[in-house]
Amino acid sequence: MSGEGDTPQAIRKLHPGKLVIASHNAGKVIEIEALLGDYGVDPVSAGALDLPEPEETGTTFVANAELKALQAADLSGLPALADDSGMCVDALGGDPGIFSARWAGPSKDFTAAMALVNDRIEASGDNPSRAAHFVCALALAWPDGHVEWFEGRVDGTLVWPPRGTNGFGYDAMFLPDGYTQTFGEMDPVEKHAMSHRADAFRQLVDAVF
Ligand code: IMP
Repeated sequence: MSGEGDTPQAIRKLHPGKLVIASHNAGKVIEIEALLGDYGVDPVSAGALDLPEPEETGTTFVANAELKALQAADLSGLPALADDSGMCVDALGGDPGIFSARWAGPSKDFTAAMALVNDRIEASGDNPSRAAHFVCALALAWPDGHVEWFEGRVDGTLVWPPRGTNGFGYDAMFLPDGYTQTFGEMDPVEKHAMSHRADAFRQLVDAVF
């Protein structure tokens, strides 16, 4: 990753051809196809190649994205892209962070997860900060073990009660800075233009094509 001394590492370019999307989520594969199709990338899902899903044992978003991308590149012999994302709350020391999906439990109940976040903020002290941010880490790995990574972020405030039924996860309680609508109220096209994921993809496109 980071080079030694003062010489910046050259970013490796991604050439047109097959790219494994190291995710078993069909929605993510379709979204990435739309974002990268213009660059001659031909996405193949990890599911279609029967690749296993590694355990996310990293302690950061980037570490988890890297381990997923490296395993998929190693097993497939193709470049592979993986992501890891979540919401970090200032008053909770950055939680739920990399555990954002897990806070919703096996039934993926984000109504309960949002209530848990709100309860924990209120229990954290008098007049606690409601600042939060979403993070999206992207890792692009090659079969020889080279990895490039990018981290996107969007800052906001958590409202209560949640507002809006668009989106997923914690969207309904997240009010991005400078906007009057939560991600749950916002037109998805508007969210996708300014989200943490959009930020990370912009950085990747600028660097590797
Ligand atoms: P991942 O699929 O392992 O990256 O899990 C990310 C989790 O973080 C999701 O299950 C959501 O709970 C949360 N998350 C990530 N991005 C968003 C977003 O854009 N809106 C709402 N929740 C998000």
